[in-house]
Amino acid sequence: MATLGIPQNTIAVLQKYNFTFQKKYGQNFLIDPHVLEKIVAAAEITPEDLVLEIGPGIGTMTQYLCEHAREVVAVEIDRNLIPILEDTLSAYDNVTILREDILKVDLTQIAKERNGGRPVKVVANLPYYITTPIIMELLESHVPVESITVMVQKEVADRMQAGPGTKDYGALSLAVQYHARPEVVAKVPPNCFLPRPTVGSAVIRLTRHVQPPVRVEDEAFLFDLIRASFNQRRKTLANGLNNSPKILLSREEIQAGIEELGLPVTVRGEALTLEQFAQLSDCFFHMMKKRGR
Ligand code: SAM
Repeated sequence: MATLGIPQNTIAVLQKYNFTFQKKYGQNFLIDPHVLEKIVAAAEITPEDLVLEIGPGIGTMTQYLCEHAREVVAVEIDRNLIPILEDTLSAYDNVTILREDILKVDLTQIAKERNGGRPVKVVANLPYYITTPIIMELLESHVPVESITVMVQKEVADRMQAGPGTKDYGALSLAVQYHARPEVVAKVPPNCFLPRPTVGSAVIRLTRHVQPPVRVEDEAFLFDLIRASFNQRRKTLANGLNNSPKILLSREEIQAGIEELGLPVTVRGEALTLEQFAQLSDCFFHMMKKRGR
């Protein structure tokens, strides 16, 4: 039975193993059964699923996942947690613990070997210091992933689901929304963790699109363009792009492309929708091709 969500039980395990938290690994363990149940419900785990958990800690959420999924693979970087996990998860025969850095694990291989190549569900209370690299790796690489249900810093969740014209809208919003549909499912205060983080948290579910909502000639160029558009937020889009080494066009050509879309030359990057970035990307792509650049 999943018992570690109760604070006294977590404290007892930490004391038994004389565990010291490592700040560098972003260790804030969940100690609230309601939040744990909410995460597991939002992830919609079924007995057919292979779940990948990133950073199981002492196994608090892993216990819940083991009770709902067919199989759980939990990847933990901190070697001091491995004997603890072996103890707290000893009642479950459907879990594998890997002592690895999540950014170095071949997740495609895991999906192939353990799930016949079918998409896996990712569930985690993420270490906040590497939230964006983890999410982008899961979305951009060709790892088969159906959904990602994760605890992140609240500001990061806001940025992922922000729309045009808002202060939170930027390259992360567009990258996430190109690959998935984001939905914040819970806001979580610091007192639900041990130790308490200094920031607010939120659980966000990203449901991967079967097809991206826009089609472009060159996906990598679309993201070069998006990054360049937000690099200098206070500049107009034309000025920002003119300074980018990736956009091999003159200021006049950039302005012509922006006007071709029916936008004013003074427009800022944060006003454009994903569809407009896609149109601009194809427009610039063809201009550059025509000029042999
Ligand atoms: N899942 C546990 C919970 O909710 O109580 C712990 C969550 S804690 C916020 C993040 C966990 O990720 C820690 O156990 C930490 O050691 C682990 N971690 C940090 N960096 C990691 C990495 N690069 N690869 C795998 N695990 C990592």
